[in-house]
Formats: sequence, C-alpha cells, structure tokens
Amino acid sequence: MQRLRMHIGGEFVEGVRKGWLPVIDPSTEDTFAEVPAGTAEDVDRAARAARSAFDSGDWPATTAQDRGRLLFKLADRIRAEAPRLAELEARNCGKPIVEAEFDINDTATCFEYYGGLATKVLGHVNPVPDNALSLSLREPVGVAGQIIPWNYPLLMAAWKLAPALAAGCTCVLKPAEQTPLTALELATFFEAVGFPPGVINIVTGDGEGAGAPIVTHPSIDKVAFTGSAAVGKIILRNAADSIKRVTLELGGKSPNIFFADADFEAAIDGALFGVFINQGEVCSAGSRILVEKPIYSKFVEALAAKTKTIRLGAPLDRETKMGPVVSAEQYERVREYQEIGKREARLVAGGGRAEGFKKGFYVQPTIFADVDNSTRIAREEVFGPVAAVIPFEGEANAIRIANDTPYGLAAAVWSRDIFRVMRVVKAVRAGIVWVNHMQPTYVEAPWGGYKQSGFGRELGPWGIEEYLETKQVHINLNEQPIGWY
Ligand code: NDP
Repeated sequence: MQRLRMHIGGEFVEGVRKGWLPVIDPSTEDTFAEVPAGTAEDVDRAARAARSAFDSGDWPATTAQDRGRLLFKLADRIRAEAPRLAELEARNCGKPIVEAEFDINDTATCFEYYGGLATKVLGHVNPVPDNALSLSLREPVGVAGQIIPWNYPLLMAAWKLAPALAAGCTCVLKPAEQTPLTALELATFFEAVGFPPGVINIVTGDGEGAGAPIVTHPSIDKVAFTGSAAVGKIILRNAADSIKRVTLELGGKSPNIFFADADFEAAIDGALFGVFINQGEVCSAGSRILVEKPIYSKFVEALAAKTKTIRLGAPLDRETKMGPVVSAEQYERVREYQEIGKREARLVAGGGRAEGFKKGFYVQPTIFADVDNSTRIAREEVFGPVAAVIPFEGEANAIRIANDTPYGLAAAVWSRDIFRVMRVVKAVRAGIVWVNHMQPTYVEAPWGGYKQSGFGRELGPWGIEEYLETKQVHINLNEQPIGWY
C-alpha cells in the first residue's frame, strides 16, 4: 500500500499532524493508498506558499504567453500519461475505464483551452466625458482556494486550476477525501513542466479538517467550490467574515423532459444516459424523467427493460457500463433512497444491491415510476443511479413540474417541434438546457446553476472572468491644476 504526500511550496510533504486517511478501492473495498489528513496547519503552509508565489517570486513576472505555454506543457504531460491516469481514476472512483479515458482527455483539453485563453484577456478604454484616458485593466484576483468533489476528480481539478492559472492566480486545491490520487499525480508534473514552486498547492484531507480552513484563511482571496448545496451554504456563511469572492457549483435535480413526438428509441437511450452515466454521480443527472402521457406507459416499460440490461462490473473491465458507487457512505445513501422510493412510488427496475458482487459498493440502477413531484425521491439529490419518472399532460404542466425544484443546474427537452422546444428552453430556469440530448459538456461553453445550484460560471471565457478583478485607471490629460480651491 502506497503512502502519498501533499504538494506544498513545490515539495511533497507529510501533514504537520501526521494523521493519515485511507483511500479505498470501491470495487474491492480494500485500502490501496493513504494520504495525509491535512489540517489548518497544512492549509496555512499552502496558503503562505501560494501568497508568497503570488506576491513575489517568478509568478508575478510571468507573461500571459508564458502562463499559456506552461498550461500547454501540463496538457502534454497529461496526454502522455493518459492511460495511467485513467486507470488510477477508474480504480479510485469506481467509474468505468472507458469513461475515465474521456475524463482524462477532457482534462488535457481544459488546460489547452485556458492555455490559449491566457493571452486573450482584454481590458477596455472607457469613454469618459473628460480630457482623460480611462482604462479598465483585468488583474488576477490573487490566491484561489479551490474545493472539489469526488465524481470527476481530475476533471474538476482542471476546471478550477486551468482558468485560475491562466488569469495569473496561484492556487490551493483540496481534492475530495475519497479521491485524491489523480490530483497528487498531477502535482508530480507541476514543477517538472516549469511552474514555479508555490504556484499550485494540493492539500489532502477531509472537509472539516482541510476544506473549512481554506474558506477562512486570511491569505486566500477567493473560494471556488464544487459540491453539495448543504456544504455550499456553509462555505458562503464562513467566507463572509473575510469578504472572499465565492463561486459555487452545486447539485441539482434536473428534469429530462420527453414529449410524445420525440424519437422514441433516442428518447429511451437519452433518458438512461442522462441519469446513469458515471453511476448517476453527476451534478447534472437527469434524475427527474418527465414523460408526456400518450407515451408514458410504453416509455416506462422500455426504460425498465433496458435498465435491467445495463452491465455492471469492475471499473477496469472495458465492457463495464456501470461500476460501484464511490464509497460506503454513498452506497448507504443510495440504498436509503431506494427504500424511500419504494414507499413513495412504483418500483419498475432495480431497487437494491447489485447481485453477483461479494464485495464492492455496487447498487442496481433503479427506476421509480408514477412519481409525484412533491415526494422526496423527486426533490432530493440522490447522486447515484436512481431515477424518478413523472407523468405530465401538456407543455404548461411540464414546465411547471420542471421548475418546481429548489435547484436550477440543468434540464433537457426532447421533441421534434422546434416552436415548443424553444418555448420550453426559455421557460425552464436552469443554467444549461440540452435539446434532444443530455450531458455533453464542453470547455468552450459556460457551466453553472440558477437558484440553489449555485452562482458563477465555469468554463469558456466565463470561467476565467471569475478569477479576474477589474481595475479602473484614470489618466488626467490636462496639464493645468484642477483649480477647485
Ligand atoms: P460535498 O459537498 O460533501 O463535498 C465537496 C467538497 O467539499 C469535498 O472536497 C469536501 O471534503 C468539502 N467539504 C465538506 N465540508 C466542508 C466544509 N465544511 N468546508 C469546506 N469544504 C468542505 O460534495 P460531494 O463530494 O459529496 O460531491 C457531491 C456533490 O457535488 C453533489 O451535490 C453534486 O451535485 C455536486 N457537484 C456539482 C457539480 C457542478 O458543477 N455543479 C459537479 C460535480 C458535483 P471531503 O469530501 O473530503 O470531506
């Protein structure tokens, strides 16, 4: 079993307190690594390293071109090591290797995108009514504290690090306690490709021990968080004292809406892909499947039949379509919602532990039909392979149910009627709406939620904006005194 170390100030170090956290393989339940249980002392070391790299040293002197080149070099290393990184990711999270390969490719693409964007941050000349030149300059926000979840560990790290570094920030990143391995592997590339020490720091540990001190540390200027709405609320409260800039990418209970005129085969496929990809551990999972009444019975029958054919298996088996969920805690959570669903609605597929696995956190992909939108199974985020199918009658009813949720991350609508599609797109309160598809996510396009799914946008030019301050510069062109007094 490997004992790994955190990455602070350009070095791999143990925690100050010397505690360790186990890293569990969710398919075998074996501990296959240990990482330091970081504490406030470790966060302090990392924040000081990041502060000093931001305020002095080589980083403030780097040009946007240099920062872009470093991000390209990092992407090259990721691509060169992609098979190893994908295997590590699949083993650590339980996701199928084929999906992990997509994640690693997207991770490299994210660093490449922001490598290019580093030189496209532009200021303005402001048309002020005076004999003056008024400029708006864009400057890095400073030290970014970044806290991420376990469902897409390396990709979430890239979504946070790439725009921050392109903007000229330095970073303290905390991966989820369950899935720290690929972030630590990434750290072996930082100084090797040329990042000055202290620019990127990775602190391992749990939320209380290492996450909370990031939010309150006085040397950290901004917190970027992806995770649950419950923790997002705590972060917002704790960031208030130091008026940190905060961006929150939180959970969802996203509606996937199927009208009767949708292509039936594509619809069934899209409903399954929308909710079961990555074991359903997806913030934008289409976990509320809204189906128009004329096709409802046929739809539920086909969905249940196809769900029963989904191949569960070991993450490293290339035929596996669904692996175990990430942890014992997540397993218990999904099992609990399977039982809640049985009390609230009609179970048509799954509903228990997956058969045929002696060990591992395997749960059956589960479908509940005839779900009422007021029930827990329709309102609470499961973050696992559990879908609630809800019948509706007509467009207005679909929109009302879709919006009847505290969340607003994503939605999808399936229909061949472009007029109806566009009316629904406009009416649904969500940060992302897919039409006749669900889940494709691109670094070039914005990502983020409405309502309790958070605020701020990641990816695209929107992502780098969140790491920039705007400085107004007023240059007086009159050579005379102001002459007021
Ligand atoms: P959590 O909110 O439990 O944890 C997210 C991160 O926050 C982890 O690193 C966690 O540490 C840390 N954390 C926990 N408590 C605190 C605290 N008090 N202060 C600071 N940090 C803390 O979410 P999960 O990891 O369980 O991830 C699932 C959630 O993430 C879902 O709700 C999902 O929808 C959301 N998500 C949203 C995405 C989006 O883009 N909108 C994308 C992906 C996921 P640790 O786990 O180590 O204790």
